[in-house]
Amino acid sequence: MDIGKTYIFVILPLRLSWEPCYIAPQGTATGDRVKVVFAGKEYIGVVSGTGVEPPAQAKKISEILSVEKDMDRIGENEIAFWRQMASYYLCSVGEVYKAAYPSVKMEASAQESARRKIERLKAGLAKLEGLIPRARSAKGRYEQEAAALRKEILSLEDGPTQSPGPIGNPARLSPAQQKARNLIQEAFGKGSTVLLSGVTGSGKTEIYVSLAINALNSGGNVLYLVPEIALSRQMEERMAGIFGPYLRVFHSGVSPTAKREVAGFIRSSRYILLGTRSSIFLPHDNLSLIIVDEEQDTSYKQDSPAPRYNARDAAVMLARLHGASVLLGSATPSFESLYNCRNGKYSLVTLGERFHGAPDSDIMVIDTISERRKNGMVGSFSRKLIDAIRKRLDRGEQVMILRSRRSWAPAVQCSECGKIIRCPHCNIPLSLHKGSPEDRLLCHYCGHASPLPASCPDCGGPLIPLGSGTQRIEEEASALFPDAVVARLDSDSAQDREYMKRTIDGFSDGSINILVGTQMVAKGFDFSGLTLVAVLQADVLLGQQDFRADERAVQLLGQFRGRCGRRGSKGLFIIQTTQPDHPVYRFLEGAGDGLGTRMLEERRMFSYPPYSRIINIVMKDSNGPRIEKLSRELSVAVAGALGTTATLIPAPTASHVMVVGPYSPAPDRLAGQHIRHIRVSLLKDANLTKRKEALKAATESFAREKSWAGHIILDVDPV
Ligand code: ADP
Ligand code: ZN
Repeated sequence: MDIGKTYIFVILPLRLSWEPCYIAPQGTATGDRVKVVFAGKEYIGVVSGTGVEPPAQAKKISEILSVEKDMDRIGENEIAFWRQMASYYLCSVGEVYKAAYPSVKMEASAQESARRKIERLKAGLAKLEGLIPRARSAKGRYEQEAAALRKEILSLEDGPTQSPGPIGNPARLSPAQQKARNLIQEAFGKGSTVLLSGVTGSGKTEIYVSLAINALNSGGNVLYLVPEIALSRQMEERMAGIFGPYLRVFHSGVSPTAKREVAGFIRSSRYILLGTRSSIFLPHDNLSLIIVDEEQDTSYKQDSPAPRYNARDAAVMLARLHGASVLLGSATPSFESLYNCRNGKYSLVTLGERFHGAPDSDIMVIDTISERRKNGMVGSFSRKLIDAIRKRLDRGEQVMILRSRRSWAPAVQCSECGKIIRCPHCNIPLSLHKGSPEDRLLCHYCGHASPLPASCPDCGGPLIPLGSGTQRIEEEASALFPDAVVARLDSDSAQDREYMKRTIDGFSDGSINILVGTQMVAKGFDFSGLTLVAVLQADVLLGQQDFRADERAVQLLGQFRGRCGRRGSKGLFIIQTTQPDHPVYRFLEGAGDGLGTRMLEERRMFSYPPYSRIINIVMKDSNGPRIEKLSRELSVAVAGALGTTATLIPAPTASHVMVVGPYSPAPDRLAGQHIRHIRVSLLKDANLTKRKEALKAATESFAREKSWAGHIILDVDPV
């Protein structure tokens, strides 16, 4: 190799289990971005090592095309974090890199452009300084210009925002809050992650704020994760009022320019970053506190593409790299976190009462089957619910109505032949969305859309809508309460950002009386006039064939309940269901305290999480017979590699490894692809990591042998 050159390893934004070797100019450093050709295509990679030994089997090692001096360098902590993520989530480092820096265009760095500006200014200054000795009449003007330039250069060299100014005044903590904060700090001192459990309105957020101020004041930075940002505008305003210029907000919807600004800011200033899950990939520096609010929320989990991470767990990894403390907060903690508290991995701190002293809202479970028999239903609403709403409206209070299906009707059926119209790609019922210029049928899985046919495509019989979604419930509410202002918020109506803002503001200031929505409206809101929350057709929350369904339902219903009666007055939480005796409702009512223990016991018996880790092997193929055959073979191969045999039905077991499947998930077709799952449960013991690696190796070699690589995905800790 030439003098003045070095061998380097490069991380490429690909699903590649190794890092290729290249030749680069001497002086190329780890973290530099380089342009290279790999398999005939150009990529921007990250240098992961320099002065390396080229691998013996490498035939010909190419030179890199260029070092991308204009792009941000990647910090060592960042690369270390990517490696941990890749190893935990069984994906490639390159896939994590790609998730962290999804678009190369957006990051010609702020620092770089500042550096180039400084160079330009300095060149200008040198020219001026050269002119001054010879200048006569213009001398004074030149000197003034030079002084101005020097000042500008100095301010740029100082960095843009070194001292953003003072932090605003936080609330004075109540004795209960102070006690909780002290316990948290004590646990932090021992290096422990803390779970702060406290009902909605108990004042957790004020504790976060107080700890964040501490962290900033002692020179560290703060990452504050929330499940969704679109609806936490209220939160954003609250934080902006306190943290002012230290605050930056980040989520997947920010523009590339804004992202660049945020990345540049956190590279150069003390900061508190409020953001959604992908904010863990920002170039964090000197983190001293990470807060994960609503830690149980499934929005923290990324389904696709890889890395299929849970930002809550990733935050714990990230914190370890920075020596930062982690605070998980929730009104309804996940079983995973409670389990970690039980076994001493995390510390549990609870915040008992609500800050404003309001008691938890009352619960009323309404049996819609028996009501219907008694002629007690008007469409989707029971007369009992109608009366309760009427009473609130007459008192000038507000009402929230939740239904977990957007659309006008979740399905349409032919009343002659009984046919239900299904998605041609996913085979699930299409939902009816009313609209202009025409009504449409929509697939909520793949987005397939078609106009509503005038009659049954099979027999020509009349089509009738089945059930009701948010859109229809909004119509019904407007008809039942003609004097009330009714609005709807779901992912359909929220497409219109202006409408969404108007609706949130309108419900905050009381000009909207009834808000109909999906669970998205139950997140992170604080509406003081809201005293009644009702869930319609709550059964769908219980219905899934998933061992987590009950836990999920308890959490979601607990969240809904927490929305009302936040300020001094007691709220009412109404559940309309066909299964009024379900243990989940008993549990919410406080009569079934055993449910949590029973659910955990069931988890233990079946080796479900949190007692085990689940890795879902997801297979997709448009070729039906092939997926039938290969999924079975893969199940046998994986079980063999883990020293067990595959079963089709989970059975109580105390074994360390369980392989269940292949089975068909619901839906089992998506966008024309057949889907099969194999569920692998691994007990959390000393061999866990080894077994995960064995599973990955077995899957990869199977994929290679059968040329089936693009069809298999590994999902660690699926939700
Ligand atoms: P959580 O985050 O647990 O849902 P919040 O922190 O949002 O609870 O507190 C609920 C309400 O009580 C909010 O309106 C908040 O402003 C108020 N609050 C909480 N703690 C204090 C405090 N120490 N002083 C004044 N108001 C507080
Ligand atoms: Zn579809």
